[in-house]
Amino acid sequence: MADFDVVVVGGGAAGIAAAVGAARSGSEVCLIEQYGFLGGAATNSSVLTHCGFFDQTGAQVVRGVGQEVLDRLDAHRLYRTHTVPESGNTIVLLDLETTKTVYDELVTSAGVELLLHSTLVGATTEEGRITGVEVAHRGGRERITGRAFVDCSGDGALLAAAGADDVMLSHVAERQASTLVMRVGGVRDEADLSQAGIAAAVGKYTAETGADLVRTSGIAVRMPVSREVMMLLVDQHRDVLDVHELTRAELEARRLSWLYLEAFRRYLPGWEDGYLAGTGPQIGIREGRRLRGRDQVSAADVSAARKRPHDAVARCGWPMESHVAPGVTEYGKIAGGGWYHIPYGAICAASTENLWAGGRLTSSDNRAYASLRVMGTSFATGHACGVAAAVYADGGRHDYAAVREGLERQGALV
Ligand SMILES: Cc1cc2nc3c(=O)[nH]c(=O)nc-3n(C[C@H](O)[C@H](O)[C@H](O)COP(=O)(O)OP(=O)(O)OC[C@H]3O[C@@H](n4cnc5c(N)ncnc54)[C@H](O)[C@@H]3O)c2cc1C
Repeated sequence: MADFDVVVVGGGAAGIAAAVGAARSGSEVCLIEQYGFLGGAATNSSVLTHCGFFDQTGAQVVRGVGQEVLDRLDAHRLYRTHTVPESGNTIVLLDLETTKTVYDELVTSAGVELLLHSTLVGATTEEGRITGVEVAHRGGRERITGRAFVDCSGDGALLAAAGADDVMLSHVAERQASTLVMRVGGVRDEADLSQAGIAAAVGKYTAETGADLVRTSGIAVRMPVSREVMMLLVDQHRDVLDVHELTRAELEARRLSWLYLEAFRRYLPGWEDGYLAGTGPQIGIREGRRLRGRDQVSAADVSAARKRPHDAVARCGWPMESHVAPGVTEYGKIAGGGWYHIPYGAICAASTENLWAGGRLTSSDNRAYASLRVMGTSFATGHACGVAAAVYADGGRHDYAAVREGLERQGALV
């Protein structure tokens, strides 16, 4: 059995920031990740574009641990941004292997005890507090105790293990679609990556073969270093918390990815030699459980760019982008293309005293969720969770002023 001040579950954007934020606050921190590398959706689903570091006016809204990620990418000569002229959205382009290494360096240099290949499978609670978690790995099972706990598992693994009262779950039909991201190599530099070109190629292919390609257009981005094209096209709308449905989603999406590739090879100029360089290791899951927090971000807060001077812990400048069904995306703006505040209560569990949750678990309604789930914002909410957990582990209390002071000391934009 091992004992820590702060235990963080999940090593994606939010968990990395939570673990580093807590360690920089002076806590002994354990970070638990089920895969053999960090990065969450960026590295386990090839979502290689960080959204949410900038609002639509181009102002940076996330710094702190997130800024350290950008600085470390820069040190690897791989800090590249791209602004979409039509929307003003600025994204940070990533390279898969460099990103893994940047996260390794960041977490280990902060002195975090990292457990890879370790899956959270249970938790014990006592009088409304979590006392420990159970982790399964190749060597067996291990119990880890702590004073404060952070769920950044995306799937809400710890929320579910600690007690259903802290879980919010939309009806399957209302949850966002999952997407198997395709990385395609061998695509010539001058090749057509346009939405119109992709739609035309898919249209011709389905007319000719009768293939069941529901989504006719999607994002195609040329990645730095590998020059692969990252494509978000293969959607599946299923209950990802049901392992049978998730298995069907993986199998079906993999089958469809070959059909899309064939459509592009036949009908899209410059794609003739394209090959499937990679998918996975898992389908990209946009939505499962969420935190039932003491407070919640609403779509009205997002639309109005609501500022919360007295309880803010993070900023979000990414508009609402809801993948409501395969191939169907609904958008909603933030007033003035600016940003809104995420309050402390949206990262604190409603009923478990020493539990925080960030990233795509942050407490929100369905439409606000479509905005704050992105990775840039996940670094910010995760960072806030880590500092809050460290403050609690030290003093045994929720102290917003201390959390804010800690975040600002670590360079976060609040
Ligand atoms: C197809 C797709 C496209 C997207 N496009 C973009 C985009 O272009 N830009 C953008 O910024 N965002 C995008 N998003 C959203 C974004 O990727 C996620 O919302 C974001 O990664 C959330 O970060 P997180 O740290 O909360 O969770 P995740 O990135 O999901 O990380 C959670 C981590 O927890 C680990 N974990 C889960 N369960 C356990 C367990 N029981 N034990 C141990 N570890 C566990 C996982 O392995 C993972 O590493 C996209 C999402 C999808 C699915």
